[in-house]
Amino acid sequence: MKPIPYARQSIDESDIEAVVDVLRTDWITQGPKIEEFEREVRTYCGATHAAAVSSGTAALHLAYLALGLGPGDTLWTSPITFVATANCALYCGAEVDFVDVDPASGNLCVDALERKLEDARRRNRLPKIVAPVDFTGLPCDLASIRTLADRFGFSVVEDASHALGASYRGDRVGGGGYADITVLSFHPVKIITAGEGGMTLTDHGRIDATIKKLRSHGIERGAQLSQEHGAWYYEQDALGYNYRMTDIQAALGISQLQRIDGFLSRRRELAVRYADKLRRLPVIAPHQPDHARSSWHLYVIRIDDSDAPAKRRAVFDRLASSGIRANVHYIPVHLQPFYRARGFSPGMFPEAERYYRQALSLPLYAGMSDEDQDRVVLALEQALK
Ligand SMILES: *Cc1c(COP(=O)(O)O)cnc(C)c1O
Repeated sequence: MKPIPYARQSIDESDIEAVVDVLRTDWITQGPKIEEFEREVRTYCGATHAAAVSSGTAALHLAYLALGLGPGDTLWTSPITFVATANCALYCGAEVDFVDVDPASGNLCVDALERKLEDARRRNRLPKIVAPVDFTGLPCDLASIRTLADRFGFSVVEDASHALGASYRGDRVGGGGYADITVLSFHPVKIITAGEGGMTLTDHGRIDATIKKLRSHGIERGAQLSQEHGAWYYEQDALGYNYRMTDIQAALGISQLQRIDGFLSRRRELAVRYADKLRRLPVIAPHQPDHARSSWHLYVIRIDDSDAPAKRRAVFDRLASSGIRANVHYIPVHLQPFYRARGFSPGMFPEAERYYRQALSLPLYAGMSDEDQDRVVLALEQALK
């Protein structure tokens, strides 16, 4: 039987046609499709401005830079995330620290954040940016984080790489005005794909303009500069990057966004089916708070390991031998050798470490059939015996 992956993209003929159409035009790199993709995504999410870039990682990097993160500053994030959320702060020359997670959701714990902020204020070491992650597609408690941001004077970059189409208190992620910048990723495993790609969403025009300048070398052009110096003239007034998205990618993104309602409703349907079928198994199903509606990027169950350490490993290996390619999200970032070498060590963020020991991501993607899901549940039942 064909192996079942933990995630996969869903590409149809309309997506293929959209990409081929761009190849027949004069624009291949950043052109009119970029503006169209930005307009479609910001309208969908309810944000004022959007900037498309080459990856979610590039979007995080430029978001941090646009908020002024640099040497001497600190960024705080959750240890339960992909390494890029933390790495991008180091790209800026800043320091990284972590805030432990809520054991139920795996999202950054607001109480732990508040305690850490009070302590940091006493030591005059407040963070410049806090980057909460909407882990698995479940939005963080954004209103509480916003309140703390206003009280302690830090900026919020919401890493919503998992959460396009999720909602928080009735607002889609990226709308609602809670975060200063919201970051999306269009990597193939995410809710929609552009091959690779990312986007920043913000309600602040100046931040958006800075990101759009930095994604293309820090270079500015414009009618006024042309008038003054000649039509060839451009000016570099900051150190930027080549983080441009191509029109080829944007065309795929636009086409995928047209299909997002179907993607999300299938993911939600599969999540409901999992919850129903897993009820009789000795596993902890994902937490669903009242304040938010997940996009179900990941379906992370937890396996209680108090009676048998390494139980999750045994279940993972048994699933693999039945052709079920589960995954684990995430190895806590502070336990990576690179971060240990920077002074982090086991025991620093105990809830994140416990979450990691128990977590198992079951296959979930929009193109998954009921039969494949039943195969996963059956294999899991046998693996737990
Ligand atoms: C995917 C992901 C990223 C990075 O996105 P890329 O588009 O792969 O660069 C960042 N943070 C989280 C939480 C992610 O899942």
